[in-house]
Amino acid sequence: MNKPLLSSEQSVDTAILVINCGSSSVKFSLIQPETGHSLLSGLAECLTTPQASIKIKHKLTPSENEQSETSPLAQPYDHQQALTTLVSKLRSLNLVENIIAVGHRVVHGGESYAQPVLINDDVKATIKQLAKLAPLHNPANLIGINACQQAFKDLPQMAIFDTAFHQSMPEKAYLYGVPFSLYREHGIRRYGFHGTSHFFVANQAAKLMGKSLSQCNLISAHLGNGCSVTAIKNGESVDTSLGMTPLEGVMMGTRSGDIDAGIVFHLVEQLGYSINEVDTLLNKKSGLLGVSQLSNDCRTLEEAMLDPNHPQSAQAKLALTVFCYRIAKSIASFSASLTTLDGLIFTGGIGENSSWVRTQIIKQLSLLNFSVCEQANQTARFGTNGNISTADARPCWVIATNEEWVIAQQSAQLLSK
Ligand code: ADP
Repeated sequence: MNKPLLSSEQSVDTAILVINCGSSSVKFSLIQPETGHSLLSGLAECLTTPQASIKIKHKLTPSENEQSETSPLAQPYDHQQALTTLVSKLRSLNLVENIIAVGHRVVHGGESYAQPVLINDDVKATIKQLAKLAPLHNPANLIGINACQQAFKDLPQMAIFDTAFHQSMPEKAYLYGVPFSLYREHGIRRYGFHGTSHFFVANQAAKLMGKSLSQCNLISAHLGNGCSVTAIKNGESVDTSLGMTPLEGVMMGTRSGDIDAGIVFHLVEQLGYSINEVDTLLNKKSGLLGVSQLSNDCRTLEEAMLDPNHPQSAQAKLALTVFCYRIAKSIASFSASLTTLDGLIFTGGIGENSSWVRTQIIKQLSLLNFSVCEQANQTARFGTNGNISTADARPCWVIATNEEWVIAQQSAQLLSK
């Protein structure tokens, strides 16, 4: 590592480059870890296809207007080239010198990582080995790490794992009811995901309550394209709905969530599906999309549901109703994991923005003394954090998540150690 440790003099101008590499996309953000201010951010998507594009926006001071651009691209355009475009942009804005580290979101850390880690060859080998548990995600994360090591040769690279926050789960929460040897020999257990998001919003809720996180008992519902619910006891994850893979738990945009495992045999043996077809069915054609037969997008479904002339209106309502019931059931199930409960948190694109979804979920949780204040619920959107419960009920907060800021903060903390 050639860079000096983070000092208080550096902290004003320094920033962490946060990289979130998917199989065909790279999301990036240059963040000041103390304030969370994003100097520059963007998304390269449809990589390695003719539709590849990159969008970069920057806002170098809080008063500067946001600028956005889409660059013309050479073909084929891949992760490495996207990062080359990013580096040129950072150079042209004189931002490269401000970067003190690169923080990578890595999806699966297995049981190896409960904390962020400085990436070296051993860490990369472990991430590669864990690709058998996350075949779609960990290889893409490694592409991002290798590309950044090429592009930023002198900078320390950190890995922040989506699974890390859930490593505090007890055995009773992470073991499945299958032969123990499958866990011991093959690592088959619940790992959970969205850890950085649950951690961030739990911290925000702690601040709203004026407590330290370790004094807080919460249930957090991250509802985006992927959805998960987590029980947090004394500030630590004690159970979560996503499992060994991001397919378990509540219903999601295109993922089924929990189903009877016997359905898989039925699809294969009785209906002639191949295993690949079952995989696609449950991961990409189910959830809100599968039930509505219209869309995986909550906004589209709400619009269709509210328009009686829409041909899929009833089906859209059915999909959203099943979605909300399954989430409410998952939240209620965590009353087995906690002895006290300070409140419930909604976050993620749906959790932060859909007052309809929040109302449906909260209405089904009256046994846990949740009750929605519709006026507060209607105004809690577009990044405003707030309690949407009636005065006599248990608190229920809408909190905008910021995984990039957590990655920047944790990278800076690791650097300063
Ligand atoms: P990801 O998991 O890919 O990060 P997001 O957290 O951005 O996804 O969430 C995407 C979901 O949020 C989509 O279903 C989208 O329809 C939903 N969403 C975004 N804005 C609204 C809104 N105003 N009302 C209802 N749903 C919304």
